[in-house]
Amino acid sequence: MDKIMIEKLHIYAYHGVHASEKENGQDFYVSAVLFTDLYKAGRSDALEDTVSYSDAAKLIYRVFTAEKYDLIERAAVTVAEALLDAFPALRAAEVRVDKPDAPIGLEFDTVSVEITLSRHTAYIGIGSNMGDRLKFIDKALAMLEETPGISVTAKSSIIETEPYGGVEQDPFLNGVIELNTRLRPYDLLDRLHEIENACGRVRTIHWGPRTLDLDILLYDDLHMNEKELTIPHPDMKNREFVLKPLAEIAPHLIL
Ligand code: ADP
Ligand code: MG
Repeated sequence: MDKIMIEKLHIYAYHGVHASEKENGQDFYVSAVLFTDLYKAGRSDALEDTVSYSDAAKLIYRVFTAEKYDLIERAAVTVAEALLDAFPALRAAEVRVDKPDAPIGLEFDTVSVEITLSRHTAYIGIGSNMGDRLKFIDKALAMLEETPGISVTAKSSIIETEPYGGVEQDPFLNGVIELNTRLRPYDLLDRLHEIENACGRVRTIHWGPRTLDLDILLYDDLHMNEKELTIPHPDMKNREFVLKPLAEIAPHLIL
């Protein structure tokens, strides 16, 4: 993947755990690798076909000095998030923060942290079979759209389906949406739970009635199998109410 690199942008700032660091400040050096396709700009020679390193450096400076953090981890993540949010053409941003005068009381060159945030494509299954079902689905969509680091890139039709899993209950409305997100899987799951809770979701019977169910169906081509999170969603291949809307918005997908 092509990249634009900004090395050791010098910024005087006030990050640190010690009160004196927040009061007096010190030198930091911020480096960034911006992953983006440069071939088009390389052929056209047009600034609008690339990410301006000048704009990126100014954004880094602004974000890095906007607040005083305890940790350079926090500063680095905040910069990486801001870069991805500001420049849609970026596929990923790697940010390194050097703190050469960190108060350690020993001799060293520098200490630093480096983090990489990338964009991902996720498919989310939405279901509701209690109360004003369409209202809950609309609210979930609105909350997803307003979540920093998430944009909704496609929505299926909403279909009515018979309940699944053997519990006697009302019919569901189901749909699938496609997201572009910089959130990592567990952070995405946390956000989905927040939205379920905001829509009055109470977890009672497994496969029982719910105001809103949001499931991560797919996350790039990630495979994971942990207690709290299994991707691809373990039961999706058996659920026509998932596969049908998924095929509508992502007919090219090979499961
Ligand atoms: P279901 O969606 O199977 O009807 P719930 O919505 O009650 O069940 O989810 C129960 C738990 O399933 C969640 O708290 C979450 O930790 C876990 N889980 C595992 N994999 C996934 C996934 N891919 N998407 C959403 N939740 C998942
Ligand atoms: Mg669920």
